Amino acid sequence: MKKLIVNANVFNGTDDKLIKDVSVLVEDNLITKIGDIAPSTADEIIDAQGGTVMPGLIDAHVHITLSAGFNVLDAMTREEMAIRSAKISQEMLMRGFTTCRDVGGNTLGLKNAIDSGYATGPRILPSQAAISQTCGHSDYRQNQAQERLANGHEDSPLMKSGTFKVADGRAEVMKAVREQLFKGASQIKIMAGGGASSTFDPLDTLQFTLDEMKAAVEAAEDYGTYVAAHIHTIPAMKRAAEAGVKCFEHATIMDDEVAQIIKEKDIWVVPSYFTSSLIAERKIPLPNEETYKKTERVGKAMFKSAELIKKYGIENLAYGTDCVGTANVHETQMQELGAIEQTFDTITALRMATSNCGRLFEMSTYQHPYQAGKLGQIVEGAYADLLIIDGNPLDGVDCVMSDEAKKVIMKDGVVYKNTL
Ligand SMILES: [Zn+2]
Repeated sequence: MKKLIVNANVFNGTDDKLIKDVSVLVEDNLITKIGDIAPSTADEIIDAQGGTVMPGLIDAHVHITLSAGFNVLDAMTREEMAIRSAKISQEMLMRGFTTCRDVGGNTLGLKNAIDSGYATGPRILPSQAAISQTCGHSDYRQNQAQERLANGHEDSPLMKSGTFKVADGRAEVMKAVREQLFKGASQIKIMAGGGASSTFDPLDTLQFTLDEMKAAVEAAEDYGTYVAAHIHTIPAMKRAAEAGVKCFEHATIMDDEVAQIIKEKDIWVVPSYFTSSLIAERKIPLPNEETYKKTERVGKAMFKSAELIKKYGIENLAYGTDCVGTANVHETQMQELGAIEQTFDTITALRMATSNCGRLFEMSTYQHPYQAGKLGQIVEGAYADLLIIDGNPLDGVDCVMSDEAKKVIMKDGVVYKNTL
């Protein structure tokens, strides 16, 4: 099946100039040609009416299975979690997100169902369970810690469902990493320090020793992939960088030294400006005053760190929203694009949500589930994951954020929306 998009300009995901007045040929699920193409070669013509063809959006930090507060999720059956996840993923695709990296959640089944056409949603690069130490950021026995430890409970419902995993010491950490790889993880997610929205682990706690982190990195790298870490503070980032962690999620509280280490070691940074400010403005309900204080500290620090990212020319930046909770939080997924544009500039926002994520995901090498084409770019040989926008995204991201201006959503060569 050949689809030809005519009368289009192209934002290719990297360049700060449009490719003007071209056609884009899609053969099955790949983009095979961009340029002057005779319409007679196609089975179907899509007239872009002068709109911009751009890569489908990518979110490198999602938790599709976390569709409610943790107490609610803890009491939910796996079937209910799965059905809710299917809805969350469908809505994600209809916002224009054609790929995501799930950084904590048992999403392999959903991914396979989407890939084989039984469910609708973005491509998913699963991390499977996020791994933490006992009393770490994803030790989700915390609600009944005393009772659960006294009764020898090694896990909680959320841990049994494969959302989170606890491991201590080199051997257990290695085993936990290998278990996630066995369950189809494209990359490994660990919790390398305290959390902002959690009730029991102070932000400044260091989680996992250097040796435990090294064990995670070794087990991941032996499988061709990398470790991404939830991380907020300077000492935690120094330790994780030394251990060989390649991707920092949040990376909120930086100083000059850490920013330089990140730059020198080519470590990726996945900040979440919008969600952080939502929490800091107390628009998301949190358990108590203590968690609000932690999130306010993180929210303020994050914008200072953005200045260090600019100062040291850190370019390995990827789009990540960290939307966790009820549907109204997941609905804010698009807002991060505007927050990044405000913090940096338009082209940085667009690259972070497209080609940069594609580059980040290439670190999964043979654990990467989508190897037939490039992701996050409009180039020959890329997957046909694209949007047609009424407007020029390079003039400002508003048109990308607008549902109305997003005329076409195509993933894997299949059109999911067309209001041209
Ligand atoms: Zn997260």
